[in-house]
Amino acid sequence: MNTRSGKGLSFAKRIYLPRVFGMGIGLLCVMAGTAPLSPPPWVWAFMLFNGLVWPHLAYQWAARSEAPYQAEQRNLVLDSLMGGFWAAAMHFNPLPTVTVLSMMTMNNVSAGGKRLVLRGALAQLGGMAVAVLLLGPGLQLEATTLQVYASLPMLTLYPMALGWVCYQLAIKLAEHKRRLGALSLTDSLTGLLNHGAWKDLLMLNFQKCRKHRSDAVIALIDIDHFKAINDTFGHVIGDCVLRQLSAELRRTLREGDQAGRYGGDEFCVILPDTSEAQACQAMERLRERVGSYRNPQLPTLRISLSIGLCPFGAHLDTSDTWLEQADRALYTAKGAGRDQVMVAHRLHAGTQGLHEMPDLMSLAR
Ligand code: GH3
Ligand code: MG
Repeated sequence: MNTRSGKGLSFAKRIYLPRVFGMGIGLLCVMAGTAPLSPPPWVWAFMLFNGLVWPHLAYQWAARSEAPYQAEQRNLVLDSLMGGFWAAAMHFNPLPTVTVLSMMTMNNVSAGGKRLVLRGALAQLGGMAVAVLLLGPGLQLEATTLQVYASLPMLTLYPMALGWVCYQLAIKLAEHKRRLGALSLTDSLTGLLNHGAWKDLLMLNFQKCRKHRSDAVIALIDIDHFKAINDTFGHVIGDCVLRQLSAELRRTLREGDQAGRYGGDEFCVILPDTSEAQACQAMERLRERVGSYRNPQLPTLRISLSIGLCPFGAHLDTSDTWLEQADRALYTAKGAGRDQVMVAHRLHAGTQGLHEMPDLMSLAR
């Protein structure tokens, strides 16, 4: 993931503006802390470089690297190294020192957790050692009024900017989570519910029907001789047929109906608050529409459906039994010549085999 095009580059981009902003207002703070100590000119040059040039250089360095994520982590450690340098260069003047170091540590926590905080703290110590070696040791424990005011922008505005960045990130994460959640319920080929998601809904609908004694019908829909369609026209056309059927399902069903792909060429539908007659009508309409589908580029392509229906009934003890009854009705539709809708009648449907169910009636043709 930590590649130029992946998480790494977006990480570098996300850090760019906060660094430009933070280093810019941090410069005020460091200038006010260092000025009274009359540092040599190279320290001023380095200060301006750190405050105004470094954020842009750091971004370019990370963005052009092979692994921007690692490069950005290195940049954050370098930020801390320079922060430590300025703390010692200001002779540890409490207000600007604490302001610069604590803002940097906050950065490190949000960007890399415990590990980066530790590496950042070591880098800060290293930076202090370099400054003491180059500029000599010193301690300045009193802050002037100017230093107090110069630290205020960093103390007030920077946490706000970082909080804003974190908030935006949290929104993005919530959106990704929502999308992933939806994907885990969706069949990738057809965009309908997948097997597991549909079965969960079946269970909920079963419980609702039992509790409120409401009507609902489930349907299992299977494409006839789909293997032959694949063999004759190829799997790509086979996939198009599956998508075509799912589009037709969406057009035929009402908003509250819940369609899924049960697997392979088999689809499943829950029709809540629907009577047996209404469900039969809807499924007949679907069968006819799909049956009349013609494609001028594939004039010999014909699609027909076998559909098994089962209305909810008090005799059904589990949602699996309900499904099993619909499956049996589908199996009977296949046995009776395909291209038809069969209903497992609620009064007599039980656990017997289909040959013992005289009430399965054919509605087609
Ligand atoms: P029947 O009328 O008895 O249902 O016959 P059938 O040929 O439709 O049934 P069978 O179960 O033998 O074949 C289903 C075929 O569906 C076999 C499998 O290769 C194909 N299939 C399953 N999933 C997909 C898919 O995602 N895309 C395509 N193109 N074919 C699929
Ligand atoms: Mg089939």
